[in-house]
Amino acid sequence: MNAPLPPIQKILEGLHAELMENRGGEVATYIPELGKADPEWFGVCLVTADGQVYQVGECGQQFTIQSISKPFVYGIALDDHGKDAVLEKVWMEPSGEAFNAISLRPGTGKPANPMINAGAITSNSMVAGDGVEEVVGRIKQVLGTYAGRELTIDESVYRSESETGHRNRAIGYMLRNFDILEEDPTDCLEAYFMQCAISVNCRDLGMMAATLANGGVNPCTGKRAVSRQHVENILSVMGSCGMYDAAGEWIYNVGMPAKSGVAGGILAVLPGQLGIGVFSPRLDPCGNSVRGIEVCRGISRKFGLHMFQVPQLSTSVLRRVGSLMQTRSSRLRSKAQTRKLKESAGMVRVLELQGDLNFGTAEFAMRQLTEDAAGVRELVLDFAHVTRLDSSATGVLSLAFASWLESGRRISICRCERFPSLREIIEAEASDLSDKAEFFDDMPAALEEVENRILEEAGLRRHSSERVGLECCYLLEGFTVKELEFIRGVLEPVAFPEGSSLMNVGDEPDGMYFLMRGKASAWITTEGGLQRRVATFSPGMNFGEMGLLDDSPRSAEIRADSDLETLKLTKDGLRKMGTDVLATLLANLTRILADRLREANAELSQLHS
Ligand code: GLN
Repeated sequence: MNAPLPPIQKILEGLHAELMENRGGEVATYIPELGKADPEWFGVCLVTADGQVYQVGECGQQFTIQSISKPFVYGIALDDHGKDAVLEKVWMEPSGEAFNAISLRPGTGKPANPMINAGAITSNSMVAGDGVEEVVGRIKQVLGTYAGRELTIDESVYRSESETGHRNRAIGYMLRNFDILEEDPTDCLEAYFMQCAISVNCRDLGMMAATLANGGVNPCTGKRAVSRQHVENILSVMGSCGMYDAAGEWIYNVGMPAKSGVAGGILAVLPGQLGIGVFSPRLDPCGNSVRGIEVCRGISRKFGLHMFQVPQLSTSVLRRVGSLMQTRSSRLRSKAQTRKLKESAGMVRVLELQGDLNFGTAEFAMRQLTEDAAGVRELVLDFAHVTRLDSSATGVLSLAFASWLESGRRISICRCERFPSLREIIEAEASDLSDKAEFFDDMPAALEEVENRILEEAGLRRHSSERVGLECCYLLEGFTVKELEFIRGVLEPVAFPEGSSLMNVGDEPDGMYFLMRGKASAWITTEGGLQRRVATFSPGMNFGEMGLLDDSPRSAEIRADSDLETLKLTKDGLRKMGTDVLATLLANLTRILADRLREANAELSQLHS
């Protein structure tokens, strides 16, 4: 059986076959060498922003890039001089005129935009480098980074244009007249003709477009071709001026920033998603490839890719909204403590976010901070499942946090290490309230702090440095003083220094421990290799009892977070206990395990997805 054809490939093949019949338009001949192109050549290439390539037709056929070089060279000028210096020389207003119009703004002589020849010749003059060779070498190299391979110049097309490019020379002298070009234009014009004669194929165009879609980094080589900040400027001028006097119609029908060239290429970009390269030499009167326009139209229509298509607001950013009732720390608590935490559950709002946060989704999520918040004092916010946080979302979140803190509340932020700018903004904006905003590596640790505050206020918190007696052990509730004395007799005191490991995953169980003093925690390693703390123990608690019950190897590692004093109950000790003592012990143990299971279930039932 053949593998199923990827759906994108199928659509491209359909469009290609359909448009093959369209023989409208004329091959450009004003550069004589271009007239040699086979009018039937037709290639389509779509590359996703992560580098998946789909291609149909003549995608390897070489042709000259011509005007499609303009946005890329504009990018080099921006990188070399910065936006302000470039805008001093080339403006960004669509001229609505043909590509070769001698269109300079009245008074200053500034070219209307960098996509018409006057603006492009000026961009070329701003590429740093000594002499034609160095400038062109640099352009070739940068365009090669976009394409992901070394590019060369088609010498015969270059010569052909240089011999006949009188109109461009006229533009060059006009620019010199207005001091837009500061030197004799001859060299700059040669460099411009060479830039236009760089030889590419349809696949290169798709890859170059995908590099822009990917924020300036070639998705296949991982190499940066242009600084991220200037991609926005490049796409803006492509959006408003890339298709010359057909720019308005193009954006109306196709809705993607694009650039065409007289050899028959078109390059289109959907930021963050994909790039398209098309090649077919027959042009319409505006100088744009006839089939190229139709293919882009078709792809845009088929997949609904118009950049102004209004996206659906996603409400799935809320993975979980809850209180301490459903989400508790992994710290095991006594009965009285558990009761108190349940009573106070509504004081804590727990919010787990997920997916992409932009202005819309962040605003939606932050509404959870203002709804029914009267009795809420603490916010615990988890970013572990957030995939992206753009700058507008960072702005919305930090404003929401600032007003939450100003109202006298506290906030605990978990797992935001992938979004350092968020932390910086919060720390800067709420600097005087910074003791009220804390950052944590995991959610259980944050919840534990919050719970501790509640218990401390209620006088129900025992400090881990305190030493407790057996009567305080949850597992030994309900025993008489005499029975406890007997039990003490079969337990073995064992001490552990801070940082030591008491047991490891896979160890054979040799007993369980009562923690009498100090703090310990249980850790597991996830399939992805991450260490996760699953429980914290304080004096009065026990661990290692599961192995004693079913004799299976240890399922978690236990670490001493401070110096520990424990009492160990071995299998031998267990055997020494009478049936009455054993029955009570097992009943207590069952209750503790059932409580833990119930808590885990409550937590799971809260997950939105
Ligand atoms: N080299 C061509 C010129 O300047 C580029 C024009 C184009 O591709 N639209 O005339």
